[in-house]
Amino acid sequence: MYENICSKCGRSMSSVAWNGTSSTVAGLQCIECSSKMNDFEIFLKCLSVAYREFFLYKTIHEEIGEEKYRAHKELWDTLILSLELDYKIWLAKILETRHECFKSYKFASDYQLIIEKIEKWRDNFGAHFKSNILRNWKVFIEANPLSIESAGKIFEKIIDLAEEYDRNTGSKMKPKEQFSLIVEKTKKQFNEYLSVFS
Ligand SMILES: [Zn+2]
Repeated sequence: MYENICSKCGRSMSSVAWNGTSSTVAGLQCIECSSKMNDFEIFLKCLSVAYREFFLYKTIHEEIGEEKYRAHKELWDTLILSLELDYKIWLAKILETRHECFKSYKFASDYQLIIEKIEKWRDNFGAHFKSNILRNWKVFIEANPLSIESAGKIFEKIIDLAEEYDRNTGSKMKPKEQFSLIVEKTKKQFNEYLSVFS
């Protein structure tokens, strides 16, 4: 049995409050705290779910190595595909929502190109299965490449804008700090996890 702690007030919650989904990832809060969440907190929560998935996806690519990958190929492929699917869908949703923190911001054309690719990917594959796309899957992928670097660039920009909004509104949510903690923890935990098998 896991002990569930509210990520905001730190109070312990009874097992009744546990809904079986990713409480750590989503930053589970008690009913009292989550009912007080403002739009910016909800926005940051969604962004952090997407970023955790993206960063784990990136870390797997960078850290796993050929030997470990080959030894459990199907497992890694499943994990990689589901992380990729999910982070891109979240990212498309976040970009579409146009939260106040970047509503008035005009993305430069190089960013605009990446955003278009993410949306195209979501519309044609991520959220809907279009048989003509699936039939020519390779052609679609090759025509719409989205590198880890490009996705990372978009995340960085959104985090920067959120940080600016946080400063200007005095929200004190410290997005930059939150997101560098995600980077740090993901790297550390992934390498600890891998070292068990070496
Ligand atoms: Zn609480």
